[in-house]
Amino acid sequence: MKTQVAIIGAGPSGLLLGQLLHKAGIDNVIIERQSPDYVLGRIRAGVLEQGMVDLLREAGVSARMEREGLVHDGFELAFDNRLERIDLRGLTGGKTVMVYGQTEVTRDLMEARVASGAPSFYNASDVELHELKGGQPYVTFTHKGQRVRLDCQQIAGCDGFHGVSRQSIPDGVLKEFERVYPFGWLGVLADTPPVHDELIYANHERGFALCSMRSPTRTRYYVQVSSEEKVEDWSDERFWDELKRRLPAQTAAKLITGPSIEKSIAPLRSFVVEPMQYGHLFLVGDAAHIVPPTGAKGLNLAASDVSTLYRILLKVHRDGRTELLEKYSEICLRRIWKAERFSWWMTSMLHRFPDTDAFSQRMQQTELDYFVGSEAGRRTIAENYVGLPYEAVE
Ligand SMILES: Cc1cc2nc3c(=O)[nH]c(=O)nc-3n(C[C@H](O)[C@H](O)[C@H](O)COP(=O)(O)OP(=O)(O)OC[C@H]3O[C@@H](n4cnc5c(N)ncnc54)[C@H](O)[C@@H]3O)c2cc1C
Repeated sequence: MKTQVAIIGAGPSGLLLGQLLHKAGIDNVIIERQSPDYVLGRIRAGVLEQGMVDLLREAGVSARMEREGLVHDGFELAFDNRLERIDLRGLTGGKTVMVYGQTEVTRDLMEARVASGAPSFYNASDVELHELKGGQPYVTFTHKGQRVRLDCQQIAGCDGFHGVSRQSIPDGVLKEFERVYPFGWLGVLADTPPVHDELIYANHERGFALCSMRSPTRTRYYVQVSSEEKVEDWSDERFWDELKRRLPAQTAAKLITGPSIEKSIAPLRSFVVEPMQYGHLFLVGDAAHIVPPTGAKGLNLAASDVSTLYRILLKVHRDGRTELLEKYSEICLRRIWKAERFSWWMTSMLHRFPDTDAFSQRMQQTELDYFVGSEAGRRTIAENYVGLPYEAVE
């Protein structure tokens, strides 16, 4: 079997890249380890930057998002029993974010893929990448009991943090940068109306909390928990009690609780590999970098990588501009490091660390107070939150 671009992984990176390439007439095949239902069952990100919204429009998969997504003009920072609004639209010259779940983005992309007739192999096992530095790369995998060989010109490694693509690069090529945080986020999804019409990021001496949403009737709330915490130890009642304690009194009083429909703990990590390419292989999204979710950047960084790789591949396959491939990693990394910095800073400012004492708690509150009290400070937060611009490929 032959294609132009082999895409490993049918998460948002792989599906979006596949859709953009297909629309541009560039053949591609997606190979995914899990079933479509499994992929759709993962509850993850929910805040889309303007750049990602525009890319979904360009890919022709934005119709449902335009109808059902919630445009947010701002968000709230809560600390010291106060709520302080960051006016995204006002501070960034009109930019906003879109609240629309990753699950919904994935569903829209999967439906577009099926409608396009472009080939995808789900439930593929033993995926292996070959001849990454040689003349002609290829991928092998097992599907429905048959070993399949897929010859291609480029391989997009869109297979997440635990995927095979990054692991296929020989030892010593990549440099890894990592920070593992000593806590995680316990998240609850519930069919309850949101406590507020915008997101609330709360700093509290008991730990961080986030009030988020997926729709006017579905909420996603989080509380910071220690890395050793077990989800089984958190009844719904315990979760709601803890969340209320971390919110300003006026907000806690309005919180409507209900049975959880999903509950899970996500670890927090910052991670980047350099470079993001090796021969014919290009790492995209979580395969190359992870951010802690404070700042809502993980999915959005995946989208900016996709945009860069797509624009380079267009020029490669249409105009033979193969020299542009060399620029992929350096273009992506400039934006990635800035988002890593913002996510790390938001995490440091809003969470309780094991060594947080009364002095450092006051320092966090004062830093928040300083930033929200200064227009320059609020603008800095706003321009990072809506997403820094995508860099042109030339
Ligand atoms: C629990 C959790 C909560 C998160 N919450 C947020 C959030 O609130 N905000 C935010 O911005 N970001 C969040 N993120 C991050 C965001 O979800 C990711 O950045 C995003 O999913 C990246 O997309 P991706 O396509 O690069 O990787 P993934 O979504 O991980 O997709 C990779 C795909 O590759 C497949 N795969 C893996 N190995 C192989 C293989 N060997 N062969 C074939 N296929 C393979 C996987 O099954 C998967 O479908 C969260 C992530 C997690 C894990």
